[in-house]
Amino acid sequence: VWNECLTFIKDNIKPQAYKTWFEPIKPIKISGDSLTIQVPSKFFYEWLEEHYIKLLRVALVRELGKDAKLIYDVRMENTYSSSTPHTVKIPSSNRNPINSQGVTVPLEINKRELKNPFVIPGIQKVKIESQLNPNYNFDSFIEGDSNRLARSAGMAVANKPGGTSFNPLLIYGGVGLGKTHLAHAIGVEIKEKYPDKTVLYISSERFTQQFIDSVKSNTRNDFIHFYQMIDVLIIDDVQFLSGKTGTQDVFFHIFNHLHQNGKQVIISSDKAPVDMQDIEQRLLSRFKWGLSAELQAPDYETRVSILQNKLYRDGVDMPDEIVDYIAKNIKSNVRELEGVLVSMIAQASFNRKEFTLSLTKQIVDKFVKNTKREVSIDQIQKVVSSYFDLDVATLQSKTRKRHIVQARQLAMFFAKKMTKASLASIGSQIGKRDHATVLHACKTVDNLTETDKQFRKYVEDLTKKLTY
Ligand code: ADP
Ligand code: MG
Repeated sequence: VWNECLTFIKDNIKPQAYKTWFEPIKPIKISGDSLTIQVPSKFFYEWLEEHYIKLLRVALVRELGKDAKLIYDVRMENTYSSSTPHTVKIPSSNRNPINSQGVTVPLEINKRELKNPFVIPGIQKVKIESQLNPNYNFDSFIEGDSNRLARSAGMAVANKPGGTSFNPLLIYGGVGLGKTHLAHAIGVEIKEKYPDKTVLYISSERFTQQFIDSVKSNTRNDFIHFYQMIDVLIIDDVQFLSGKTGTQDVFFHIFNHLHQNGKQVIISSDKAPVDMQDIEQRLLSRFKWGLSAELQAPDYETRVSILQNKLYRDGVDMPDEIVDYIAKNIKSNVRELEGVLVSMIAQASFNRKEFTLSLTKQIVDKFVKNTKREVSIDQIQKVVSSYFDLDVATLQSKTRKRHIVQARQLAMFFAKKMTKASLASIGSQIGKRDHATVLHACKTVDNLTETDKQFRKYVEDLTKKLTY
């Protein structure tokens, strides 16, 4: 009977999907109109339920009649020796098979089986690099009103990963406000307190790439299993998953698996869940299960503490009035605060100079201007053209004259660097070129800046003209 079902299924889905999801199934027994199949994991079961239940039903009804029942025997892949399999009964009359909430409940994992999920019989113990930066810890994460809630929630999670109601813990806030730092700090602290726990920090971008690669190389299951073995999963910048439904899908399943097994998930995002666009509703609703904590821009006192702490760590002395000036003028972003310090230290040591207020003003001004001032592509074209004594029409023209090509490439390069425009949009504004041309221009400029002194001078001059 099962073979007949398989033949039918095989004809109706892609070969790869068949291979992944149906070949591993073992038929166990048939009694009356019930068929029992064995599946290798709970995740596997959920996946079948979500994606293939209709197909399975049709196949079964064809073979066993309209009262056909399917019984899953879920075998934990890492505990082949365990005695009692989970059995879940799925009445075929279930009107809403996709929403199998009622069914997953009895599947409540047998904790004994999961005690040591890293030992897979016959395979070695799995060791996972945490990818944590030890410098991003709680000690170096200065507390202030702007981050108190997030910081203490992070501490609570670190003390009892998976054991608080902050699961998932979602940290959100604008750029440079410490999301990545805090996320690492939680991981670092957990590793210290619980060295045996597997902690993994991953950016959403890498997660997505790994997922895409796993699909390409037909190792999607390995990818999923890998993530399901983790005790503490830290996933940074989930806004990156916007619109990427495939990746969201797989993350949803991994998330559910971890959460159901009491594993801790920590998520960071540049937006609050309510503002996340193009993230599937079911994933957003999961995020709301735990705690969302915001990182706000630090207030003046916190900015001063952050600066002082950094100076102390770097062993640098700086007059209070200078620290004060920086803290008063750089307000929105901790990364910039650090950026100013780094520039100051570099300049002062390079020129063997003391820190002076005038040097500070110069550097702070530059930072403020750089971030405040929005240069338009039009302005860039004007500045570059006039620098080379051309008019904008010539810059945009089709001519292949070397010096004009160079000027055009520089305009593209600065447009990419200083505006938020996409490659395609830059191309269309600078003489109707395509995105590949712009990309090529950026690379050419990068290369020439490295190798050609005269060219480097152009880039420096233009940078000054465009930033001041
Ligand atoms: P985000 O991920 O939110 O963009 P990051 O975590 O990368 O921001 O933080 C930017 C920089 O600011 C990092 O170098 C980080 O160490 C520092 N930083 C942010 N918040 C704090 C803080 N409260 N105390 C000390 N340093 C901080
Ligand atoms: Mg970050």
